[in-house]
Amino acid sequence: MSEVIEGLNKVKDSIKEAAKEAGRDEKEITLVAVSKTKPVEMIEEAYRVGIRDFGENKVQELCDKMEQLPKDIRWHMIGHLQRNKVKYIIGKVTLIHSVDSYRLAEEISKQAVKNQCEQDILVEINMGRETTKFGLMEEDAVEEIRKMAALPGLHIKGLMTSAPYVVESDENMEIFHKMKRLAVDIQDKNIDNVRMDILSMGMSQDYEAAIKQGSTMVRVGSKIFGQRYYNEQA
Ligand SMILES: *Cc1c(COP(=O)(O)O)cnc(C)c1O
Repeated sequence: MSEVIEGLNKVKDSIKEAAKEAGRDEKEITLVAVSKTKPVEMIEEAYRVGIRDFGENKVQELCDKMEQLPKDIRWHMIGHLQRNKVKYIIGKVTLIHSVDSYRLAEEISKQAVKNQCEQDILVEINMGRETTKFGLMEEDAVEEIRKMAALPGLHIKGLMTSAPYVVESDENMEIFHKMKRLAVDIQDKNIDNVRMDILSMGMSQDYEAAIKQGSTMVRVGSKIFGQRYYNEQA
């Protein structure tokens, strides 16, 4: 068995296990296979066993891969997105996870209207309050989301976070718990054009904890495709 298939099977099993422990239906959780820096051949391997959701963090790489791979793949933009690159992915990606400012949302809206499409987005929250990370501070989320939600051509589907680096999955339990609480708070406000159906949290290091706290979308790279050997920072 190839390493990709082996990795996938392990990840799928542990998602199932974490869901079971949390008393959740595993079908509520979407696995986004994070293929950044990895070749299309590896994506094809995962595709052949049924994976359709893939995550990339760079616009150029995402567009290159999109061209070479089957059209029924759902692409997720998970990395920091510059406003001048929105035009290259608008309407082509299933979901933009990394909307971290009103100005970016405004550009997404502008491009969506121009291209006559509707773009689903998540709002990124810097729940760990890390200076090295993107995302809105928790206390600014509601106000910013209200403003973004009024823009045409986009739909807010939920929240995303990248939790701090940890060694043990459980160390981020509290961060994920706070994310879930924030999503519930926002949902309760019943803001027009805002749903909190998607909670994108959990990576290779901590997806089990994220699932236990209500994640509906985990973004897993290295546990499927192996370590990345070169600098992939945006
Ligand atoms: C790279 C990346 C991931 C996946 O990281 P792994 O540790 O390889 O699972 C998830 N989310 C974002 C935003 C990333 O950039």
